[in-house]
Amino acid sequence: MTYAELANPGILTQPVYEPGKPIDQVARELGLDPAGIIKLASNENPFGPSPAAVAAGERALREAQLYPDGGYYALRQKLAAKWSLGLDQFVIGDGSNELIELLGHAFLAPGVECVMHQSSFIVYKLVTLMFGSTPVEVPLVDMRQDLERLAAAVTPRTRLVFLASPANPVGATNTAEEIFALVRSLPPHVILVLDEAYAEFLDAAPDLRPLIAEGRKVICLRTFSKIYGLAALRVGYGYAAAELIAIVQRARQPFNVNGIAAAAAVAALDDHAFVDKCRRENAAGRAQLGDGFRKLGLEFVPGGGNFLLVKVGDGARVFGALQQRGLITRPVKPYGLPEWLRITVGTRAQNERLLATLAEVLRT
Ligand SMILES: *Cc1c(COP(=O)(O)O)cnc(C)c1O
Repeated sequence: MTYAELANPGILTQPVYEPGKPIDQVARELGLDPAGIIKLASNENPFGPSPAAVAAGERALREAQLYPDGGYYALRQKLAAKWSLGLDQFVIGDGSNELIELLGHAFLAPGVECVMHQSSFIVYKLVTLMFGSTPVEVPLVDMRQDLERLAAAVTPRTRLVFLASPANPVGATNTAEEIFALVRSLPPHVILVLDEAYAEFLDAAPDLRPLIAEGRKVICLRTFSKIYGLAALRVGYGYAAAELIAIVQRARQPFNVNGIAAAAAVAALDDHAFVDKCRRENAAGRAQLGDGFRKLGLEFVPGGGNFLLVKVGDGARVFGALQQRGLITRPVKPYGLPEWLRITVGTRAQNERLLATLAEVLRT
C-alpha cells in the first residue's frame, strides 16, 4: 500500500497554497541584489511591525523558557476592553488561518457544504476539503460580491458561509447593510465566518456586535498580520457569541500561539499612533496606485484593503517581467484570474517605482 492510499481522502483533494516568494529566494533565482528587491506580493505592512510590539516581543523572548499562558488572558482581556465584549467571546489563533481550520474541526465533516465566492481566499476551500466537506462556489458579479447570490447557495447541508470583506485577492468590499442583510437571511443551521483581515484599513469597518447580541450565528476573524505588521509572529483572533467561542476553544491546542507573539499582540493593540499612521499612509498609497493605473489605462478593482487587483493582460508575463526588475507581485491565476495581478500598497517611493516599472514592462 502507498502512503497516498493510507491518507485521509480530504488531504489529497486540497489545492496547494502558493505563497508570495520571499525576497531572498527571488534574489537567488534571478541573481539579483536582495537589497534592491521590493516585495508587494503578500499584503505585508511596508512600515514594518509596530515598534511597541517589537519591544514587548523582545521582553517576552527573555522568558522563553516558560510556557505561555494557554488561555491568553492578557490578550483576551485587552480585546474584551477594546470591543466591550466578554472575555469568553474571544479565541486566539496561530494567525487567523488557524481559526479557519479550528472552525473546520468544530463544524465540518463529509456531507456538509461550505458556501464561498469564486476567487475567494484559498484557505476556505482548503479547510473545507481537508474535512471532507464540499465547497460551493458562487460567481462574482463584475468583480463584486453579491451577497444575495451567496445566500441563495445555502442548502440544508450548508454549515459555514465564508465571506471576506475586503476580500482577498479580489479586494471587493461589502457594506455593513449588505452584511447585516446576509446574516439576518441565513437559516439557523448556518454560521457566517466573516474574515476581516483588512478591516482596520477601512475608514469605518462594519460593527457586527449588534448581530451577535441578536443571537445571529456569526464569527468575525481579525489578524495581527496586516495593519499591525506582525505577519511572521502568526496571531489572529475571533470574536463571537460565548457559546460558539467555547466550542472553537475545544478544537484548539493548549499553547497554539507562542508567548512572544501573544505579548507583541497585546502591545500592538495599544499602539494607536502606529495603526493610525498605517491606515492613513495606506489610503494615500492606494490612491496613488489607483491614479497610476488609471493613467496607464488599466482596469482595477477599487478595494478597501492594502492591495489592489489590477488587470494587466498576460498576468504571468507581467509578473515575470516585474520580478526580473526586482518587484515581486502576486499572480492570481490559481484563483482563476490569469489576466490580473494583486499588488500590495507599499510606501510612496515603492509605489512610484512599481508604477514606473509597470509602465516600462507594459510597453515591451
Ligand atoms: C492575510 C489574510 C488573513 C490573515 O492570515 P493570518 O493567518 O492571520 O496571517 C486571513 N484572511 C485573509 C483573506 C487574508 O488575506
